[in-house]
Amino acid sequence: MATKKTTPGICYLVGAGPGDPGLLTLKGKECIEAADVLVYDYLCNPAHLRYAKDGAASIYVGKKAGDHTLSQEEINKLIVKLTTEGKTVTRLKGGDPVLFGRGAEEAAELREAGVKFEIVPGITSAIAGPAYAGIPVTHRSHASQLTIFTGHEDPTKPDTSLDYAKLAQADGTKVFLMGVERIEEITREFLKHGAKPETPVALVRWATHTHQQTLTGTLADIAAKVKAAGFKAPAVAVIGDVVTERPQLNWFEERPLFGKKIVVTRTRAQASVLSKQLSALGADVIEIPTIRIAPVEDQMSFGELVQDCHTYDWIIFTSPNGVDAFFTMFDKLYNDTRSIGGVRIACIGPGTAEKVKARHLAVDLMPDKKNYVAEGLVKAFKDHQDMENVKVLWVRAQETREVIANELSGMGAIVDEAEAYRTIAETEDNLEALARLKEEGADMITFTSASTFEHFLNLKVPLPEGIKIASIGPVTSAAIKAHGFKVDVEAQENSIPGLVSAVEKYWK
Ligand code: SAH
Repeated sequence: MATKKTTPGICYLVGAGPGDPGLLTLKGKECIEAADVLVYDYLCNPAHLRYAKDGAASIYVGKKAGDHTLSQEEINKLIVKLTTEGKTVTRLKGGDPVLFGRGAEEAAELREAGVKFEIVPGITSAIAGPAYAGIPVTHRSHASQLTIFTGHEDPTKPDTSLDYAKLAQADGTKVFLMGVERIEEITREFLKHGAKPETPVALVRWATHTHQQTLTGTLADIAAKVKAAGFKAPAVAVIGDVVTERPQLNWFEERPLFGKKIVVTRTRAQASVLSKQLSALGADVIEIPTIRIAPVEDQMSFGELVQDCHTYDWIIFTSPNGVDAFFTMFDKLYNDTRSIGGVRIACIGPGTAEKVKARHLAVDLMPDKKNYVAEGLVKAFKDHQDMENVKVLWVRAQETREVIANELSGMGAIVDEAEAYRTIAETEDNLEALARLKEEGADMITFTSASTFEHFLNLKVPLPEGIKIASIGPVTSAAIKAHGFKVDVEAQENSIPGLVSAVEKYWK
């Protein structure tokens, strides 16, 4: 073997899983976090790149049939070069790196160059794909054997390395990858070599992704069905009796929001809570942050009010952002939570209350359920106590309705208003998400405040035809209607979980 030079570089050949962002291994994630350079494929979900450290480079070498950004030789050269330079290179491949992934070839090149590598197995689409369609690849009643083969080779070519006579006769389940384009030849070969025409077949396209599609049939009719449906790659194909389990075990595609494309506005930081809950119900979420939370310019006045917070009878929080801004300032001024004194705390709703509770502070007052708006909080105060001469500090957004101040003052309270943050348009690059919305459309768009809606309008993106509008509550709905739009769904309980359950109910 050639003399090896040792460099601190290392290349991790990592299986990125079949697509569901949760189907990445812990070791895979660690390799992404450690990488100086990420080199990733077409079938690797780019969502994984969010684990990369700041400043890490990412290089797309996507290979889609017929559209090779880089040839395999160029990819080999690239990872060898980067690793030889001493970098930590994480090479992400869809599914498992050594199942039809050419991971072995890349490993051999790295070995040849004398640099270190590790193989980090991944969850392969060959098994996970069928599982997400409710098809187990083995089953005590149907199959005790599994054969995985590539559908890439033309079975009619004399130099094919596959023996279809043996494949057709093999017991158990047969799974093939890269075979949608050749489904006609492959099924024909199976039938020619004695497989039963009624053998069940399923194709799972974009398996484990929110837009997964499954097509079922038999060896005799699946090719015609693929043609009729315009069913395209990438898909995993399963042949065998295990496919009959699908009606009982189809769990992924039966989740309540499966197949629904839902747009989430809000800030980048907040979107994730709503997105996660919608995704958990099966929705395909497009995040288009329209607003961003920024500090107020007058930090001095805000700081003075926060400093005096212990002199009030009540602090009122009307948004989670307000709680964050308040305590960021509080922590700059004090290093002891007890400096907040005996002041009582009121919150507009459960999301805001959660933020307060996270600081191990109790919430003393909240509106009744289904009434998490300013008016609801005013009513709660009315029912709670006489407000005459009661000192209130209202922690608010710069731009918000004046209901709290006006109504509580009207009841005799002394209200000081602490402008804690402002909502500004998100200027970050939303282009990709907006292009997706334009291209694919969506079933529904959600708005969690009047400002998310107004800033969405400012983006000047026309709403796709027929898209439904969901609003978190009456105030947001009023803003939407004021611009001539119809609100299709309004949350009964004006909170994120309330919005999620209203959306779910709507599509039931
Ligand atoms: N190493 C990968 C397979 C790479 S070959 C793995 O272990 O999954 C590429 C083929 O894999 C595609 O043509 C398709 O047949 C299959 N494939 C990969 N990801 C898929 C997915 N999410 N859904 C359906 N098929 C997928």
